[in-house]
Amino acid sequence: MLKNNLGMPRIGLNRELKKDCEKYWAGKIPISELFETGYSIRKKNLELQLEAGIDLIPCNDFSYYDQVLDTSLMVGNIPQRYQRVPELSDSEIDLYFAMARGYQSSEFDLTAMEMTKWFDTNYHYIVPEFSKDQKFKFTSTKIIDEFIEAKKILGKSAKPVLIGPVSYLLLGKEKEMGFNRIELIEKLLPVYLEVLDSLSRKGAEWIQFDEPFLALDITDKVREAFVNTYDSINKKFPGLKILLATYFEGLRDNAEFTGSLPVSALHIDLVRDDAQLDSVLEHFKGNKILSLGLIDGRNIWKNEYKKSLEYIDKVNSRLGGKRTMISPSCSLLHTPFDLEVETELDPEIKSWMAFARQKLSELNDLHKIIEGDESLLKQNAVAIESRSNSALIHKQNIKDRVKSIGKNDLRRKNNFEKRRAKQREKIILPSFPTTTIGSFPQTQDVRRLRAKLKKGEITLKQYEQEIESEIEKTICFQEEAGIDVLVHGEFERNDMVEYFGEQLNGFTFTKNGWVQSYGSRCVKPPVIYGDVERTKDMTVRWSKFAQSKTDKLVKGMLTGPVTILQWSFVRNDRPRSETTMQIALALRDEVIALEKSGIKIIQIDEPAIREGLPLRMNDWKSYLDWAVMAFRVASSGVRDETQIHTHMCYSEFNDIIESITGMDADVITIETSRSQMELLDAFVDYKYPNEIGPGVYDIHSPRVPTVGEMVDLLKKATQLLPAENIWVNPDCGLKTRRWEETEASLKNMVKAAGVIRSQTKINR
Ligand code: GLN
Ligand code: ZN
Repeated sequence: MLKNNLGMPRIGLNRELKKDCEKYWAGKIPISELFETGYSIRKKNLELQLEAGIDLIPCNDFSYYDQVLDTSLMVGNIPQRYQRVPELSDSEIDLYFAMARGYQSSEFDLTAMEMTKWFDTNYHYIVPEFSKDQKFKFTSTKIIDEFIEAKKILGKSAKPVLIGPVSYLLLGKEKEMGFNRIELIEKLLPVYLEVLDSLSRKGAEWIQFDEPFLALDITDKVREAFVNTYDSINKKFPGLKILLATYFEGLRDNAEFTGSLPVSALHIDLVRDDAQLDSVLEHFKGNKILSLGLIDGRNIWKNEYKKSLEYIDKVNSRLGGKRTMISPSCSLLHTPFDLEVETELDPEIKSWMAFARQKLSELNDLHKIIEGDESLLKQNAVAIESRSNSALIHKQNIKDRVKSIGKNDLRRKNNFEKRRAKQREKIILPSFPTTTIGSFPQTQDVRRLRAKLKKGEITLKQYEQEIESEIEKTICFQEEAGIDVLVHGEFERNDMVEYFGEQLNGFTFTKNGWVQSYGSRCVKPPVIYGDVERTKDMTVRWSKFAQSKTDKLVKGMLTGPVTILQWSFVRNDRPRSETTMQIALALRDEVIALEKSGIKIIQIDEPAIREGLPLRMNDWKSYLDWAVMAFRVASSGVRDETQIHTHMCYSEFNDIIESITGMDADVITIETSRSQMELLDAFVDYKYPNEIGPGVYDIHSPRVPTVGEMVDLLKKATQLLPAENIWVNPDCGLKTRRWEETEASLKNMVKAAGVIRSQTKINR
């Protein structure tokens, strides 16, 4: 029974790759130094896996930015605009970074390629661009070089990992009309065959083709492409062992044809979907090996050996040990590197966890248990037992409260029209009211303040005074700029999910649990290990303080239940929906507390609601149902007079507009300026009934938008929406901007609102 790994984290234990990439980009180190760092990360990973007894050790799972971009370079899919830059023509790595990050020189100003989320993870990849007369050519030899390098380090062949050609095409985008990118498979396949030829000459035995789309909803055309591709590869290279990797979903209706593909091994994700096992086995044709994805590559909990062994036994008895392989569910890219360095975690909670390194040992343990080492099974059972019975995890009162959520906890007292009438009596605003999304610039000073508090260099009292003075400044500025609904600025929050997590029971935090988000950007998600409970006010203090400094209204600012869930490592012993409902109840109490303290407008952000959408359409409804329900639980405890806002950004709204409407927020602010209001279409087509603030200021750019261009955007909005429903605001929070830009932009925004008011007649 072989032990297989699909991929390792690649940022390095101390985020060396991030740091050195950024240094290289800033011109502070030569490329040779970055390459050395890359080499040492790869070497360490290989050695670690060798030590852990992994049989199929991946190579080419490393990347300086993104594995999809690597593939684009491998097949020579380089958009014209980058090919025209002479300085980039002789440095593959500079060309590569230019595609990822854009390129500016005296002569050129090239935007970066588009980036989007890698399936339902928080990893983002660079979207390949395809044209009708697209040509491919074997260009970057990274995969060959890293194979040769790995062989030297390991003293044996590693298993090169590639994104399969069908998934590569599906991950991309047509840049012109009149063709379907899947048709390009005939042109792309020859390049892959060349790569395989080269690898096999260098002695490769196993090759991993990642084809996650096999686990998604696909068309007949795509299915055909899969069949033809793997037939061709098999015909051309009958001696190469192809491991076809699927993950993040079950094969379901694709199990039958996938089971017949002429490959040497098929990998399935049993963590995500163990129900697929029977049908996969039923359709498993030929002499293939089945790779069982048993160890969760997406989360940080210990594997339950007993359960894994049941799957192994089942497959063993059907296929025999020689045709059974054990693996993590997907690449370990999505988990932090090493739990050992987490010295400050509660030892009990820590004993339930496993990061990438520990997951490799788990694979080895499973193998040893199969060979007869029962003691490992017992040890594991003790850890699993301790977790499931721990008093740290279970709070009966919270479980009961979730169970007792009733109809009345799910809706406001009256419908929107009635609420609006009451709100307009209490909340006096001009037409086209102006507001912001919540955060104001997080300057070095503010960040330093938090660091000082953590190090004990200042007292809590000093810290709070400093934050108050930031709030006061921000309130003053907003008054002066003439904004109608003010915010306190969120200076007390480093990361918003972390901020709420730190105040709720059931959350814990790692010191070094980083995972790659995109390029050099890493995130350190909080860990939700137990029942979530609110024991104290979380935001009231700051909102109240801000409100005390002004006669205008200050908006309370909360992060929504789905977003908190989505951006954390979530406990896996309970359905996600249940944990979300616990968070929703905690937020509900906070919303009510804000109302009690005199706050009349409360915003609950849900920027991550779209990204929680399941990969298979069949599962959408049930997700959306509980996601909407959670928002309603959080928001509906207040009086009609209290105005509830929500905010969403950087996602497609079309396919979830009905659910967004179902959330029944009085006002929604959304990002629309980059797409010139195109993203509003969903709201217009659906006749979204409540109030909307379409963003008019692209906060991702340091550019100060002019009054004129914001007026134009607002005019567009008035043609699309009832004028009395429109709010005026930026696309998103201003935390990453600098004060100068922010001040100038918001002043222009207020002027733009003035212009549109004078040009549009409405009764309010
Ligand atoms: N209120 C948050 C902010 O302004 C919203 C952040 C987000 O949408 N991601 O920063
Ligand atoms: Zn946003």
